[in-house]
Amino acid sequence: MDRRDEIAQALTQVEARMERAADRGGRSRDEITLIVVTKNYPVSDVAILQELGVRNFGENRDSEGRAKSLAAVGTWHFQGQIQSNKISSIAKWAKVIHSIDKPKQIEKLAAAITDPKTTSVFLQVSLDSRPGRGGAGPEELAGLAELVMQYPQLTLLGLMAVAPIDLDPEIAFSELHQIHIDFQYKFPSASGLSAGMSGDFESAIMKGATHVRIGSSILGLRSLKR
Ligand SMILES: *Cc1c(COP(=O)(O)O)cnc(C)c1O
Repeated sequence: MDRRDEIAQALTQVEARMERAADRGGRSRDEITLIVVTKNYPVSDVAILQELGVRNFGENRDSEGRAKSLAAVGTWHFQGQIQSNKISSIAKWAKVIHSIDKPKQIEKLAAAITDPKTTSVFLQVSLDSRPGRGGAGPEELAGLAELVMQYPQLTLLGLMAVAPIDLDPEIAFSELHQIHIDFQYKFPSASGLSAGMSGDFESAIMKGATHVRIGSSILGLRSLKR
């Protein structure tokens, strides 16, 4: 099978699984944005995805994302851990940043852009009891959200999380669902929820995800890539 057919088939399967999960959660597939995470895959895959109608792409590294963003029109998302010194460069190609968890990152991002509503952000919340794995504590979210909203250049979309490896995703995303409800009560305009990867996107959709970030289920195992 050639690469295009392989990707097309995997994409159709993921679409069907998203549809079923949305159905089971009493939701509509149209409420959910599929972001195809192209990190570590070649730029030729990005071109194929674009031909197949994909318009949302995700990357974890500045240099790789910048290079690939030249290959496809669409919305580029950044979801990796952010180094402060890379923020202004990331802001040049990524329209949506999913991994904001510190006030300093918000200040640097705002300083890097001038036009209103240029960049959208999700605040990453940690579902892990151990510190240092990325994401703010739930108690820090309101302060971060208020800071984002002070800047007209930025649009606050909502919350993002990654399920901890050693926790059942159903449990992790139930906890996230509760955090998201509390957050939306305070910030009703920021109703987005970026959650779910190849291994757990169905649970995330059942628990209210509006954005899923999927790589290997569509592009294959990274270790096996040609
Ligand atoms: C790599 C990555 C993804 C995609 O992971 P897959 O398991 O390949 O679907 C999603 N979100 C984040 C934050 C990632 O780093």
